[in-house]
Amino acid sequence: MTLEATLRGIVGSPYVMRGGNLPAYEIDWRKRYRGQARVVVRPASTAETAAVVRACAEAGAPIVVQGGNTGLVGGSVPDGSGRQVLLHLGRLNRVRSIDAANLTMTVEAGCLLQAVQEAAAAKDLLFPLSLAAEGSCTIGGNLATNAGGTQVLRYGNARELCLGLEVVTSTGEVWDGLAGLRKDNTGYDLRDLFIGSEGTLGIITAATLRLYPQPTTVTTALASVEWLDSAVDFLGLAQARLGAGLTGFEVMNRFSLDLVRQHFPQLQQPLPGSPWTVLLEQSASDDAEQAAQRFEDLLALAFERGLVSDAAVAASIEQSRNMWHLRESIPLAQSLEGLNIKHDISVPISRIPAFVRNTDELLERAVPGVRLVDFGHLGDGNLHYNVQAPVDMPADRFLAERESEVNRIVYDAVMAHGGSISAEHGIGALKREELAQRKSPVALGMMRAIKQALDPQGLLNPGRLL
Ligand code: FAD
Repeated sequence: MTLEATLRGIVGSPYVMRGGNLPAYEIDWRKRYRGQARVVVRPASTAETAAVVRACAEAGAPIVVQGGNTGLVGGSVPDGSGRQVLLHLGRLNRVRSIDAANLTMTVEAGCLLQAVQEAAAAKDLLFPLSLAAEGSCTIGGNLATNAGGTQVLRYGNARELCLGLEVVTSTGEVWDGLAGLRKDNTGYDLRDLFIGSEGTLGIITAATLRLYPQPTTVTTALASVEWLDSAVDFLGLAQARLGAGLTGFEVMNRFSLDLVRQHFPQLQQPLPGSPWTVLLEQSASDDAEQAAQRFEDLLALAFERGLVSDAAVAASIEQSRNMWHLRESIPLAQSLEGLNIKHDISVPISRIPAFVRNTDELLERAVPGVRLVDFGHLGDGNLHYNVQAPVDMPADRFLAERESEVNRIVYDAVMAHGGSISAEHGIGALKREELAQRKSPVALGMMRAIKQALDPQGLLNPGRLL
């Protein structure tokens, strides 16, 4: 029997499609990676997933795992060989249970992030992972990439929000590690090994997630800032004044908001343009008036110290949503402007202003007229430092001719400032070479040994990460 026939027997014929003309599965979100799957297979349960993996392992067929296909590093689409089986997990989409007393929920990997948030909210609980792709990305993909998003400052990355996993191994066995314990010192932490492994070590089929009480008051504001150094000082002040109540602190440069203005003119921008705009949010559970006063006091102090020159506080949930919408529209506005060279980097927060100053200068010298879309999670030391072609240069020519030089300038600067070449998007196919050059040989050696131990045939997401 052919592999395709075996897979049809496992999941049912409607859920196996021959590859070749399936753009939703074979082209990545940024349209930088286009491949061809041998077949796309869509199991509906952990048992079916395990059976699919066993069949592929027996046939020696490589597997590429896909959730919502919103990843930004080319990790979720097959290569052009036509040999890779694309394992799509969208049908594993049940919320298995919510344990309010334990503050946990157990969900299947293909659940959309937004559906997870909504299921928690329906029980008056909060699942705080939040990112612009939440309507299309899956919790399995979030965990496989250790996604960050806009509330890491308070609640941590996907890793910190996960208490347990269920994983199908490369040989098709099932590891049930869903217990949801906050304490479990029984040897190596297998859960943390799979989180952030980008589908190269095993397939996440379900997860037990950490929940929080819903805050009673959320206050959102935009603030104009002249210098990035002032934004860092403002962050310090906000942390001191709001403590754990500070749940978001994002920064956007003028050009990123200009792009939003140009491509989404219907979105209201409450502040006139300034070199930098901060989006900050307080989530509180105490008295609403006290929380509002605390927030106002913070802004007053920031004005008094000359850190902020203008501010707009959202007066309604709708205004708050609009502020976040501005921030979250930047990636889309950028892609409407044309392909750019993305860098999802982190450096210590204190070094971000110097990093941006130095790197902006080096890039402008190397590519006169280059346009820089700088925005991101300042509170986590994570910038999306994206480089757009000069106005008079077609984007594809810019990428073809200048990408490696631009990457060298940016990543050299990242390393010089003690940072990381991937803060939250992962490595995928895009940064594999870069990782091989820039990660310590000792770390790479241990990573290869782990890969060899857990996937000796090298069948899971080959060509990604390592
Ligand atoms: P996919 O894209 O399908 O896959 C991503 C990787 O995970 C691939 O290597 C894939 O093989 C692997 N994978 C997927 N599911 C599984 C599984 N169940 N088991 C094992 N491996 C699996 N990221 C952030 O961290 N923070 C942000 O703020 C952020 N904002 C974004 C905004 C936009 C508009 C977009 C398009 C993306 C953004 N991202 C952000 C990128 C982010 O990585 C993804 O949105 C998300 O985490 C990936 O989920 P997914 O289900 O789409 O995974």
